[in-house]
Amino acid sequence: MITRYTDYPLHDLNSFHVEERADCIIEFDCANDLAEIFTNGDIGQKWYVLGGGNNILFTGRYCGTLIKPVGKNITILEEDNSSLLLEADAGVEWDDMVAWCVERNLWGAENLSLIPGSVGASPVQNIGAYGAEAKDIIERVHYFDTTEMESRTLTNRECHFAYRESIFKNKLRRHAIITSVEFRLSKIPTPNLGYGDLIHEVESRGEASLQNIRDAVCSIRRSKLPDTALLGNAGSFFKNPIVDIATADGLKAQYPNMPTYPLSEQRCKIAAGWLIDQAGMKGYRQGSVGVHERQALVLVNFGHATGNEVIALAEHVMQRVFDKFGIRIEPEVNIL
Ligand SMILES: Cc1cc2nc3c(=O)[nH]c(=O)nc-3n(C[C@H](O)[C@H](O)[C@H](O)COP(=O)(O)OP(=O)(O)OC[C@H]3O[C@@H](n4cnc5c(N)ncnc54)[C@H](O)[C@@H]3O)c2cc1C
Repeated sequence: MITRYTDYPLHDLNSFHVEERADCIIEFDCANDLAEIFTNGDIGQKWYVLGGGNNILFTGRYCGTLIKPVGKNITILEEDNSSLLLEADAGVEWDDMVAWCVERNLWGAENLSLIPGSVGASPVQNIGAYGAEAKDIIERVHYFDTTEMESRTLTNRECHFAYRESIFKNKLRRHAIITSVEFRLSKIPTPNLGYGDLIHEVESRGEASLQNIRDAVCSIRRSKLPDTALLGNAGSFFKNPIVDIATADGLKAQYPNMPTYPLSEQRCKIAAGWLIDQAGMKGYRQGSVGVHERQALVLVNFGHATGNEVIALAEHVMQRVFDKFGIRIEPEVNIL
């Protein structure tokens, strides 16, 4: 079903809770709806896909159309002794799908518990947490191609997934509206507890069962990240920078405690939160916005901040990190 709203308030549709409006929002269920929307001239030149708005910062009125998937079906496509293939509509809440899998004893999504947002957005930046990424369970992505005006499918390999990256952020940016995603989950227990303090949190609950892992991940996340309902934010505002090994070694000689994560023999990821903290910005406040006191990667809206106030703070943080370490960190959040 297609539903159209005009002059729509965005406060509840973005996790920063900035108070902007959009000229128009169109909700859709499936690819056929999109074909209709894009052929009947209902949509102007300027449009953007809005999921749950957990990774978007509005810096003014959106003078165009926001297209929002609202389909909520989860369908089992295949099942055998070792795995299950499901297809979830783009409008399904990501964490509802994780809960669905955990309830049915299906392994693979549990470390990604409680990441806010929609299934449709999960391939876009290849969401990840606690040593797992969406790409580990995605089998295929179905999307509507607005250039060719037809539905298409990409296999996992064709999505070119990388750290917080995919083809949907690059070649298909502005051409693809994801309508559903297929995920393959394992029936064979495959606990993935190698990341950070997860193993201790699970052990304190007992065996490494799916429910205990999910509960442990939710508990760690709740203790570390501010609740968007109480304090507007978009999770990690910045991406962890990836540098060459020589740069990382040089910095490591100067700052032996600096956390680094080798990606290959040539490249290495550095924890942006540590850089921001060491640059003295953790807990820093600038009017209605600030750097969260417990998690330096998170910028927060203390009240009625505008998107531009958040941007000004982000630029200040980026400059301070660059001045101290010579590294340019970049926003992970989509700025509109
Ligand atoms: C408190 C908090 C914690 C977070 N923790 C994590 C974390 O641990 N790991 C992580 O990876 N991310 C994390 N995030 C970021 C966020 O949860 C993810 O980016 C999530 O995928 C956003 O989903 P969304 O539906 O809200 O997408 P939106 O914010 O609405 O959109 C994000 C991007 O995806 C595009 N998009 C959305 N839906 C579609 C679609 N159907 N078709 C094509 N493009 C689409 C949008 O155009 C936009 O470019 C966190 C955010 C918050 C607020």
